[in-house]
Amino acid sequence: MAGHDILDIVKKRNPHEPEFLQAAEEVIASILPVLEKNPQYGKLKILERMLEPERLITFRVTWLDDKGEVQVNRGYRVQMNSAIGPYKGGLRFHPSVNASVLKFLAFEQVFKNALTGIPMGGGKGGSDFDPKGKTENEIMKFCQAFMVELSKHIGHRLDVPAGDIGVGGREIGYMFGAYKKLRNEFTGVLTGKGIGWGGSLIRTEATGYGLIYFAENMLQEKKDTIKGKTCLVSGSGNVAQYSMEKIIQLGGKVVSASDSSGFIYDEAGITQERLEFLKELKNVRRGRIKEYADKFKGVVFTTDDPKADHNPLWNIKADCAFPCATQNEINEKDAKNLVKNGIKVLGEGANMPTTIEGINVLIDAGVMYSPGKASNAGGVATSGLEMTQNYMGSNWTREEVDAKLVGIMKEIHATCLSAAKEYGKPGNYMVGANIAGFLKVAKAMQAQGVI
Ligand code: NDP
Repeated sequence: MAGHDILDIVKKRNPHEPEFLQAAEEVIASILPVLEKNPQYGKLKILERMLEPERLITFRVTWLDDKGEVQVNRGYRVQMNSAIGPYKGGLRFHPSVNASVLKFLAFEQVFKNALTGIPMGGGKGGSDFDPKGKTENEIMKFCQAFMVELSKHIGHRLDVPAGDIGVGGREIGYMFGAYKKLRNEFTGVLTGKGIGWGGSLIRTEATGYGLIYFAENMLQEKKDTIKGKTCLVSGSGNVAQYSMEKIIQLGGKVVSASDSSGFIYDEAGITQERLEFLKELKNVRRGRIKEYADKFKGVVFTTDDPKADHNPLWNIKADCAFPCATQNEINEKDAKNLVKNGIKVLGEGANMPTTIEGINVLIDAGVMYSPGKASNAGGVATSGLEMTQNYMGSNWTREEVDAKLVGIMKEIHATCLSAAKEYGKPGNYMVGANIAGFLKVAKAMQAQGVI
């Protein structure tokens, strides 16, 4: 079956799901040469099967706010593919969450998890609950109510969720506590747990650190390094903070950060000291990014303009760009601006932050572009290491986990390059990641029969 036929089927089946269709379109185009070379996968409809979730659970979450009023949200878990291991993937709490967003994330997760080399299937979940402006008590109440239903569908050998946008250590703690109480068992059912109750060292840092390790691997291909490079980072949450930290440690200069209200431009560079202020602002006080510009002289804050056709953040001159906020934050115009300003590397920390048109601009211009499913895989890989430590009942040191993370990112980088080369697209990390992830899952699905 040709690529457009598969896409037509997926479009017909998921007519109102633009994010899911975008993720599907990108992958289908890359996989066509694999289907030509391996007709058995076409016959077994492996790709069509991968595009249909094994299970999609939606449920009502009812909870009482601080005023005693009843609140109703919708909860989800998408169990996308379990061919190579238990479902694994984060939970997102954000008002934009719907089936389309979670299916795109779960689909990407299947490929990403396969690339890590750790036996994990793919899933994703969350809720349209908006944590902004909620009290500590309301966050806890919501997490507990959410887990009352989710606990029926997950388990440490079945489906192991983690964090994502709006779900960090605090929320994982409340959900883990609720699961333990409901099921009367202490198991590694969630990752991103606190140190001292089953968490792994480096898990908090892993996605951001891994992203920059991946970028270093890309630069090394050109006998270059991140040292001395000016870097744009978007977002100011978990992934953004630890990407910035690793760039600073490796001698690069970070000049931007953002949240959903706008972005700051710190021309002098965000130092470790200023980063500590940002962490406290976002993780403890949960304030807005403008406060950073109010605090430090010479920093410019620009408000987000949702009607603009481009984001001025991506029009700042830099060598490297690391989008670490959310999907579709770099469109075609943004990509053209980056290219015009001489960008060398674009490493995706967020999932699908670049539109298909934007990706084409970057690749055509020879920018070293890495898709999130490869370059942000350090987070889930370290979640996999957390699961292993939980199964073994032991803890590895910070140095041990970091060394494993460095090795995993190096391996993913090499896997992408070799698959891209084998299929005639040398240096194309997107094609390489899609093909290598697909082949690993396809082989397992073939072996396990038509189920
Ligand atoms: P956080 O919730 O910690 O931070 C998200 C950041 O992005 C915040 O600065 C937030 O701003 C901003 N943001 C969120 N939604 C929007 C939006 N619609 N428009 C503009 N800004 C927005 O999330 P993470 O750092 O964990 O996740 C960031 C990205 O990385 C996501 O795409 C996620 O899927 C991906 N990712 C995360 C992993 C992890 O381990 N956490 C692993 C792999 C990928 P504000 O504060 O205003 O909400």
